[in-house]
Amino acid sequence: MPRMSNVNIAIIGAGMAGLKAASTLHRIGMNVTVFEKSRGLGGRLASRRTDFGHFNHGAQYVTARDPGFNAFLQEATEFNAAQNWSPNLHRGTSAPAQSGAALSPIARHVGNLAEEPWYQGAPQMNKLIRPLVDTFPIQKQHRIVGIEPSGPRSFILHDDLDGTYGPFDGVIVTAPAPQTADLLRPLAPRYAPIDEVVMAPCWAVMAAFESPLPTGFDAMLYPSPEISWAARSSQNDDMFHRRTPDPWVLHASPEWSRQHLEEDKDRVIEKLLAALRDVSGVKLPELHSVQAHRWRYARTELPLGKSHLNGMNGRVIAAGDWCLGARVEAAWRSGRTAAHAMVEALIG
Ligand SMILES: Cc1cc2nc3c(=O)[nH]c(=O)nc-3n(C[C@H](O)[C@H](O)[C@H](O)COP(=O)(O)OP(=O)(O)OC[C@H]3O[C@@H](n4cnc5c(N)ncnc54)[C@H](O)[C@@H]3O)c2cc1C
Repeated sequence: MPRMSNVNIAIIGAGMAGLKAASTLHRIGMNVTVFEKSRGLGGRLASRRTDFGHFNHGAQYVTARDPGFNAFLQEATEFNAAQNWSPNLHRGTSAPAQSGAALSPIARHVGNLAEEPWYQGAPQMNKLIRPLVDTFPIQKQHRIVGIEPSGPRSFILHDDLDGTYGPFDGVIVTAPAPQTADLLRPLAPRYAPIDEVVMAPCWAVMAAFESPLPTGFDAMLYPSPEISWAARSSQNDDMFHRRTPDPWVLHASPEWSRQHLEEDKDRVIEKLLAALRDVSGVKLPELHSVQAHRWRYARTELPLGKSHLNGMNGRVIAAGDWCLGARVEAAWRSGRTAAHAMVEALIG
């Protein structure tokens, strides 16, 4: 077994899966470097700052079934990086009928409703990963475009600005499935099953109203065929109901998002606000501001069905929520198992 302090591992992606893998390997003494294409950390645990607070425009809440992930959420709560959220929830009737073996993400959410407490990052969603961020280097705004073997057991990374990094003894890739497939396909046919994973897009609209939206609810689950989720954002503030502007996040349903994937942002905003007006049955207050974000790969519809996929003598590992499901917990579990698999590959 090599000395841990001589082992260099690259992690691609600083979402929940990548940071869980990075912190696990860092804690046992390996040299870990994380590469992240964005300016911020958290991936789809995303928050957008405005002049009056944050919008959580990606994942809305987190639940735990795995004891290890539950322990993580307790640790994050003690760390003031997470807190409970119990919105006044309206359950709509527009969820699509479940079909096939894989539960739709929405069905999973519905399954959660009665069972587990909900958590959010504190004070906003992207802070949930804070307990995982340690002293290992995180290279932000580095988009990795190639992984090249530089020996039988070592790898060089290339970014989109002609930078090269390494050599690394192992690489864990945690980008959404189609992006991971693009990186790993040239390395070995072994990674072909990633192409079978299906991820749905999601249009998100962030609307701030000049006065509180008079719905009586803080969140609505599948209120209409167009909208799968609508919720007040920044609800971590107890005084929230008296705060204005009143920020709401709308998530278009996977079906609607697919149909309108290439639509202009302004048209998406217009159509989803009209759908909100129809389902809430109230005149929408004046808008303070509004913006839209397109998640091309938002939620897993058909997962890989196992926690990770390894090749190249076990040293190049694919991980992420899409291995196991559509939830933050799936990302955490995949990141943890990928780290353990990397240790096994290095010992072997
Ligand atoms: C709109 C929406 C709503 C959701 N709602 C919920 C919810 O309520 N509850 C729930 O549990 N889950 C929800 N999810 C799913 C949840 O957000 C994900 O399961 C989880 O955050 C995925 O984590 P991850 O680390 O696997 O991937 P990601 O968070 O996507 O992290 C991957 C990271 O890799 C980076 N990256 C990609 N390619 C490269 C590259 N080439 N080089 C460098 N970096 C790269 C990305 O920028 C990203 O930061 C939602 C997701 C979306 C989008």
